[in-house]
Amino acid sequence: MSLITCQDVSLAYESNIVVSDLSFQVEKGDYLCIVGENGSGKSTLIKTLLGLKKVSRGKILMGDDLKSTEIGYLPQQTTAQKDFPASVYEVVQSGCLNRLGILPFYKAKEKKIIKENMELLNITQLSKKCYRELSGGQQQRVLLARALCATKRLLLLDEPVAGLDPLVTKELYQIIKELHENHDITIIMISHDIQSAVHYATHILHLQNKSLFFGKTQDYLQSDCGRQFLGGVSND
Ligand code: ADP
Repeated sequence: MSLITCQDVSLAYESNIVVSDLSFQVEKGDYLCIVGENGSGKSTLIKTLLGLKKVSRGKILMGDDLKSTEIGYLPQQTTAQKDFPASVYEVVQSGCLNRLGILPFYKAKEKKIIKENMELLNITQLSKKCYRELSGGQQQRVLLARALCATKRLLLLDEPVAGLDPLVTKELYQIIKELHENHDITIIMISHDIQSAVHYATHILHLQNKSLFFGKTQDYLQSDCGRQFLGGVSND
């Protein structure tokens, strides 16, 4: 069974349907980019995958014993979040919250996970720094380490490169590529950046309140939808 199966799903706010008849699958090891213009339903779909919103029609099935609380989520950064007054360690540690039992104490197991993920994202030396003093790229690495504390199976990234300069954007895409290729992590990423989406992703879902395209990146490049939005860019 696929890791995620979305079957004829419609999503609505009260009676206002914002996504209709959506079907797609995510297999273990996929790197899916969800692209589409503002208002096309990307965030609403993310909320639904995270279990924060119910479908109004259809089904979302999780395979391989995946629970929505086991999805490592990197939210879109708001200005308020960029100013969050906590240390880097505390921000990363908060990714372990779902792992704790009734007592809110971090034990050796959680501490090991935090340490490993900070090393993986190369932020150990920033541990005691205040999160709000970091650069945009460093903040995203901290949030990635936090998301990895929740899971090493599936990362859901909402516009991870928004607001970053081109060099830092490239670095972050490389980190995500490495997590996908060398650490076996399935990726679902929302992106406005279709050019990078077709460069890095294995699959594309192009949303416009319904699915304009879902399938392999190679097929997207050949499709009318892909050609129209990319204007003939190849992913060589
Ligand atoms: P995207 O993430 O692609 O920009 P959204 O999922 O945020 O799109 O929005 C899809 C549609 O749902 C838009 O028309 C938006 O106005 C509407 N919408 C989003 N959030 C709400 C909400 N909380 N209540 C009512 N309508 C909403």
